[in-house]
Amino acid sequence: MALIETRDLRRVYDLDAGRVVALDGVSLAIDQGDFVAVMGPSGSGKSTFMNLIGCLDRPSSGEYRLAGAAVESLDADGLARLRNREIGFVFQQFNLLPRVDALSNVELPMVYAGFDRKTRREQALRSLSRVGLAERAHHRPMQLSGGQQQRVAIARALVNSPSLLLADEPTGALDSHTANEILSLFQELNREGVTIVLVTHDAEVGRHAHRLVRFRDGRVIEDRRQTPVDARDLAPEAAE
Ligand code: ADP
Ligand code: MG
Repeated sequence: MALIETRDLRRVYDLDAGRVVALDGVSLAIDQGDFVAVMGPSGSGKSTFMNLIGCLDRPSSGEYRLAGAAVESLDADGLARLRNREIGFVFQQFNLLPRVDALSNVELPMVYAGFDRKTRREQALRSLSRVGLAERAHHRPMQLSGGQQQRVAIARALVNSPSLLLADEPTGALDSHTANEILSLFQELNREGVTIVLVTHDAEVGRHAHRLVRFRDGRVIEDRRQTPVDARDLAPEAAE
């Protein structure tokens, strides 16, 4: 079943300087369990597309179904609820709160979802274990490496058990060895059933996905399946 289904999605910005067509009619279906890399040059509409499928933005026209729900028919509350339940976000900048520890950062989406403190702690710890960072639960972001901070951000994205993980240039701020560790983690999560859509301008990163969708000028110009590179082959010591 398609987890994501967009039909003729458009997003136009009306600026003083004129109209910018950021997305120019994108129709895509993404199945539950897939791992898709969205590629394309800067300005091709990748982030605009991610913001739309992540329910952070609304299209100028077109349709979008997420997990069967017609997104354009939802009000702000319904949208927030759907987003909280179905989607975890990971960005290039890790966007962690600097003054609280890893565990509290991971708990945050559960605060919004209204869980009690004990449940939050347990689930946040489980999520940190999943990314291999349980023993760093009480470190603040500043006490962690870039790769560890990104893993905390991934644990935070996973804490409400979303069906979809959206990652916009998640390795953009990391060296290649650390980037490979993060890609290895994504592949592991994908094997466990998490659907992943990853935006990258880096062809090497894109090779880790099962499907490659290429954007240009707000349109899909290429869409193909591929045999992914296994990140464990590149860094066997990081895969344990
Ligand atoms: P990418 O992520 O592929 O680099 P974006 O989706 O960020 O591309 O941008 C696509 C186009 O839309 C670009 O021309 C960009 O300048 C424009 N754009 C994106 N966001 C906005 C915005 N908030 N206001 C105006 N123009 C925007
Ligand atoms: Mg972008």
